[in-house]
Amino acid sequence: TPMLEIKNLHVRVEDQEILKGVNLTLNRGEVHAVMGRNGSGKSTLSYVLAGKDDYEITDGEILFNGEDLLEMEPDERAAAGVFLAFQYPIEIPGVATMTFLKAAMNAQRKSRGEGELSTPEFMKAVKEAASLLEVKQDMLKRPLNVGFSGGEKKRAEILQMALLAPQLCILDETDSGLDIDALKVVSEGVNKLRGPDRTMLVITHYQRLLNHIVPDVVHVFSDGRVVETGGKELALELEAKGYADFDAETAA
Ligand code: ADP
Ligand code: MG
Ligand code: MG
Repeated sequence: TPMLEIKNLHVRVEDQEILKGVNLTLNRGEVHAVMGRNGSGKSTLSYVLAGKDDYEITDGEILFNGEDLLEMEPDERAAAGVFLAFQYPIEIPGVATMTFLKAAMNAQRKSRGEGELSTPEFMKAVKEAASLLEVKQDMLKRPLNVGFSGGEKKRAEILQMALLAPQLCILDETDSGLDIDALKVVSEGVNKLRGPDRTMLVITHYQRLLNHIVPDVVHVFSDGRVVETGGKELALELEAKGYADFDAETAA
């Protein structure tokens, strides 16, 4: 069974059809990139996967490990191992990053019917993840995302991802607003979290992220659907030709 199967997905937002028949199959352990121009519906797809409100699914289905994902509440999806890294991270004044991470882990455990982590258990987990991802202890004491640089926000997000150990990671334009150094940090973190049991869907507008996170499969997204699928070289082709060449296929 594939980890994620999206079949003929049609989605409306405020009476406008945004996704127009998305088909995608992601197997366990694979990293897929979805590339497409602004407004093509990439974020809509990631929000629908995470279970955000306000999206009307008018046709199609999404199977996560063979089960109907659309029947699951957002917290059930998180408990089952779906993780969405947002394009615009939220700031949480007054809550230390460490406290936020503990709450996130405990919320996931609660949805799974597991008890809260003890402080020593949490400290051990956070220390291991922070060391793997080279996150400084100092950052963990500061309020989440408040005054964080673009790179620090992404580090915090990847750290959260490491602690929640998702099966399916969706990274929506995690490269936006990052300088080259921050991009490398994030990419290295993501690469460290790649593994045979984890599937990643990396959504990006630019090819440059894919120099660092090398995908197994690349999909070109245009006007609410996948118009082309190929290997990692497809990203370079897209960069060279631009999106216009692929739009023509939508019309055809
Ligand atoms: P992308 O992430 O590829 O830039 P989005 O999924 O953000 O694309 O947006 C796709 C289209 O859906 C755009 O035309 C956008 O204006 C529209 N859209 C997205 N969310 C909403 C919303 N909540 N209300 C109205 N229109 C929306
Ligand atoms: Mg956009
Ligand atoms: Mg977007």
